[in-house]
Amino acid sequence: MNEETIVRAKLPTRYGDFDLYGFENEADGEQAVALVRGDLDSVSAPLVRIHSQCFTGDTLHSLRCDCGDQLEQALSLISASGFGVLIYQMQEGRGIGLINKLRAYQLQDQGADTVDANLQLGFEADLRSYQFCAEILKFLGVESVRLLSNNPDKIRGLEDAGVHVVERVPSLVESSQFCRDYMQTKKEKMGHLL
Ligand SMILES: [Zn+2]
Repeated sequence: MNEETIVRAKLPTRYGDFDLYGFENEADGEQAVALVRGDLDSVSAPLVRIHSQCFTGDTLHSLRCDCGDQLEQALSLISASGFGVLIYQMQEGRGIGLINKLRAYQLQDQGADTVDANLQLGFEADLRSYQFCAEILKFLGVESVRLLSNNPDKIRGLEDAGVHVVERVPSLVESSQFCRDYMQTKKEKMGHLL
């Protein structure tokens, strides 16, 4: 982590005040931000959420997935707990990018599920990597976390990169009628703990 490339700013939000850090991975240009709540030195395993960018869910309030609700719940829980980190990683569409994700939506409109759609486009079901997130947590002095997630891949990814997940905190939000099949596929084909 090159300290000279890290940007810091205050970020007041509707969920409370955060310290915002901007990071760019020198190796591949990947960008990510961390929203930090409280003094992390004063807690041994802060609440952490790694949120993967979902333009349609986070910004357009799409009901095809539960990302927007999960983002808001995470900010609310981290704020309430007093100490924590939300890392927003720019790996749209489980790593395939926005336009390819929309292509996958097109296939899903014709009957494919979220995993098969990615495979039909020539991608793996999930291309995300959590290595850079682990580096960010270590930069922030966080080596153990209570991870807000339903995704066992995220737990494995962080553990493999040297961040200890002492507890998994379920990220449960009410799903809309439009994303029930999507949630079912995540549970059955991707092992999500729902
Ligand atoms: Zn989403």
